[in-house]
Amino acid sequence: MVDQRKVKWSEASNATLDDLIYDIRIVWAKKDAQRTIYDTLLHTVNHASKLGEQVRRGEYKAVLDELGDIVMWFLTFVGKLQQRVEDRRKTSQEALLFYTPLTLTDLVWNKYPYTCPACFLRVNKKTKKSKPWKRRCDCLLNSSIVEGRTDDEKAGTEKELRDFAKEHEAEKVSKLVELEGMFAFLYGANYETFSLESIAFHLLEEVGEVSDALIRLYSYNLSKTPNPAKFYESRRLHLESEIADVMSWIFAVSIKVKLLYQVYEKLPEGVGLGPFQTAPSPRAPQINLANILWNRYGDKNTGLLYCPTCGKPQCNCKLRFYKTAAATKSLIKG
Ligand SMILES: [Zn+2]
Ligand SMILES: [Zn+2]
Repeated sequence: MVDQRKVKWSEASNATLDDLIYDIRIVWAKKDAQRTIYDTLLHTVNHASKLGEQVRRGEYKAVLDELGDIVMWFLTFVGKLQQRVEDRRKTSQEALLFYTPLTLTDLVWNKYPYTCPACFLRVNKKTKKSKPWKRRCDCLLNSSIVEGRTDDEKAGTEKELRDFAKEHEAEKVSKLVELEGMFAFLYGANYETFSLESIAFHLLEEVGEVSDALIRLYSYNLSKTPNPAKFYESRRLHLESEIADVMSWIFAVSIKVKLLYQVYEKLPEGVGLGPFQTAPSPRAPQINLANILWNRYGDKNTGLLYCPTCGKPQCNCKLRFYKTAAATKSLIKG
């Protein structure tokens, strides 16, 4: 089983998000088969809020650990959404609506084709012809326009962006190191300007928006959407767009923490740790998403992904899920 892995520790930066999802499926196959989609999203929410707590405490090393946990749970969640509906057994009926046929690489590229989606809408509105390919985001200077976008405008942009992303298919970014580079290029000025608090809040906001997108796949207000079947597809596309946003803000946290540590390294030695509280580790140059993941989930002996809780290449944690009526009753009775 081990030799089927796609990601090796030594080449983690060259792995794609999809390679990681593939390996996660191998490590946690048995456990994840028992988890619902809701369960994996709840775990993501848990770590996104814990990340907020660590930001508040100024524990930047713990922020990175929480970020690693968010990524693993979120990738598990996306992996479940990708599962073909006919292969899903014991799934609650409404959860069959939670689906995407796309790879995570494509989900991200459809929303961020080396382009900021908000800039794309703004620039397109002004000059119908020029598309902002490989253009640094300047939303900072246009925040009222960005926040004032209506849902219809955003939905329209999503469709146009997808077409634009297809045009640039040959230049698609997929390796972790390249994705991080793309976000640093697009949003470098924003990351320098925003506080870590504001970035952590934004990540939490995006995780919440994924929850909202799921809710809207199975619940429809009939006075606004009298024919839900007409809306399902666009709402599914909206979920895909929100997933891309979460990935964008995950990279934002990684890049921002690195920037903060770079500030620390510019200070004279012996000045104390100040707001850093814990000494920078790993050192700033090594802070990137691939290393954050491998520091937490990489088996140092095999160089492969493993379960850090039980230490096994295929998770053997003694987890019991209480799901059947009889089992839950036995738990309640004590
Ligand atoms: Zn922008
Ligand atoms: Zn385990």
